[in-house]
Amino acid sequence: MFTRNLILKTSSLKPVERMVRSSAIFRPLVSRFIAGDSLEESLKACQTVLEKGIKVTLDYLGENTATEAEALAAKATYIQMLDRIATVPAFAAFTKNPPAGKIQADPLNISIKLTQCGLDQGEAFAEANYREVLSVAAKHGNFVRLDMEASDYTERTLAMIERVWPEYTNTGTVLQSYLYRTDDDLERMIAIGARVRIVKGAYLEPAAVAFPDKAKVDDAYVRQAKRLLTAGFYPAIATQDETIINELNTFVRKESIEKSSFEFQMLYGIRRDLQEGLVAEGYNVRVYVPFGDSWYPYFTRRLAERPANMMFMAKSLFKG
Ligand SMILES: Cc1cc2nc3c(=O)[nH]c(=O)nc-3n(C[C@H](O)[C@H](O)[C@H](O)COP(=O)(O)OP(=O)(O)OC[C@H]3O[C@@H](n4cnc5c(N)ncnc54)[C@H](O)[C@@H]3O)c2cc1C
Repeated sequence: MFTRNLILKTSSLKPVERMVRSSAIFRPLVSRFIAGDSLEESLKACQTVLEKGIKVTLDYLGENTATEAEALAAKATYIQMLDRIATVPAFAAFTKNPPAGKIQADPLNISIKLTQCGLDQGEAFAEANYREVLSVAAKHGNFVRLDMEASDYTERTLAMIERVWPEYTNTGTVLQSYLYRTDDDLERMIAIGARVRIVKGAYLEPAAVAFPDKAKVDDAYVRQAKRLLTAGFYPAIATQDETIINELNTFVRKESIEKSSFEFQMLYGIRRDLQEGLVAEGYNVRVYVPFGDSWYPYFTRRLAERPANMMFMAKSLFKG
């Protein structure tokens, strides 16, 4: 956790950001995690993923818009993504013949951020943008997930889901096991039947709100994932932690939980072997595919998760 926090702090310094953005040395690592600058480039990457029997959630990179105009432009891109996804053959085939039952494992949906919808410019403004995106998604039979951001936004994100519910049930959010509050939040989302993606948490948080100790985060993660597997609505178990995945799969078998009632999620460019292995065992797997040129904050969170990524970069820097 110390190294992770150090990387997050250092990378937030402007000179470091300028250096990483302008240096060609970082490009190979950036393109490992980011599917391209444009929607069309990212859809090519999605196609490769879909062909392996893996589902996708597409993310237009960017967060914390500085003006209303920026937020409106992001909303327009979200809508463009939904319109374009509706023409992707795998998605069109799914909406034409949705599988029976109430669980709809859509092959290609989107993940968005409330601060990219303009939350810093005003809650009512962000809500109006979010509702517009949800209404376009509903028209196409698609699903929109609100990613979870830093803890300043947790309550506002959950309250937003509760406000649009049940007018829009084609949405859900993410809960982070590193936050002390998450057991309670989990019950809030289970109570309304919203889809939850459970993650460990990727932001720099103070000990006042989040476990500083990784072992405690892992314990909370397993407990909360099990709760979702038994009581949640089509939960997403989002982790690359193989030990945890194995433990949860043992739990699924023991409790006779249907494999179709949940999905695993992983990030683009990480543990492809694990993604494909789970598909081969009959599990639903979805990959989070980010695109766009505002990749810096997302990229630094990926570096912080695995110091080996940082070492790889440092070595390239000295070699160069
Ligand atoms: C689909 C998806 C969506 C997410 N959405 C959010 C969100 O909305 N909000 C949020 O705060 N966080 C989000 N996260 C990030 C999450 O909070 C964690 O930071 C991230 O998943 C790393 O934790 P881990 O569970 O994989 O476990 P860790 O204990 O961090 O990692 C376990 C193992 O996975 C591999 N691994 C993990 N990360 C990397 C990496 N960057 N590069 C290479 N290998 C790696 C390594 O082998 C590592 O040992 C999301 C994660 C996923 C998979």
